[in-house]
Amino acid sequence: MNRLLENLLRPFWEALFPAICLVCHSYLPSQREEYSKDPTLDNLAPYFCPSCREDIQPVHFPICNRCGIPFALREDENHLCGECIEGNGYFRKARAFGLYTGTLRKAIHLLKFGKRTGLARPLGALSRLAFSRFWDKDLVDLLIPVPLHIKRLRERGFNQSFLLIKEWVREEGIACDTGILRRVRQTRPHSELSRKERISNVRGAFKLTRPEKVKDRTVILVDDVYTTGATVNECARLIKEAGAKDVDILTLARAVRG
Ligand SMILES: [Zn+2]
Ligand SMILES: [Zn+2]
Repeated sequence: MNRLLENLLRPFWEALFPAICLVCHSYLPSQREEYSKDPTLDNLAPYFCPSCREDIQPVHFPICNRCGIPFALREDENHLCGECIEGNGYFRKARAFGLYTGTLRKAIHLLKFGKRTGLARPLGALSRLAFSRFWDKDLVDLLIPVPLHIKRLRERGFNQSFLLIKEWVREEGIACDTGILRRVRQTRPHSELSRKERISNVRGAFKLTRPEKVKDRTVILVDDVYTTGATVNECARLIKEAGAKDVDILTLARAVRG
């Protein structure tokens, strides 16, 4: 009965309060057309207008087997990038849903700095897509969102990395722990720093409160953006040194160098 009423009233409701795109604020078309580029993005229709959806670029293959960076040459196979061949990382693999550009970049900014938490649902859905695309959930024990410093958390009111998984971890039946990894030192914003500076900036910035929780476990660290990997690598170091079997990285977006 409620559903019937809802269906009857919807056209009036939509005429009075047309839905708007969460990124560009244009009105969403009432007729939802198919999204041709990637049908998995059709579910975003209630949140993003067609042109903002067009401007989402899922990570394309080939990618680096380890850090997940997409290579420009499309006909190649997956292989290791130069940096990963040199190898000084603690995680096994990093994977992201899409490139840190266009709509994804704008949406992440709006979520973090504009506190537009309504974006958590569509962005969380994309994180979930990346998770199921790149992992077998039966082989994952624990998800840990990269923590903010308590001061930053208080200012912002939420940890965006946690919001990206909050809606679906339970449905997937995976444990998520927001307490065992702490950011004990405030770090400078990475956007102003070089790669080398980023590494020393995060060194010693985190602490694992209950290391026994990760021992022999396969852990995925979750963050919004992978840029140089300095932050997640520092977290992965702590978790690996506490005896974790493997540490992987899941991010919503992946910045591409150069
Ligand atoms: Zn839009
Ligand atoms: Zn790599």
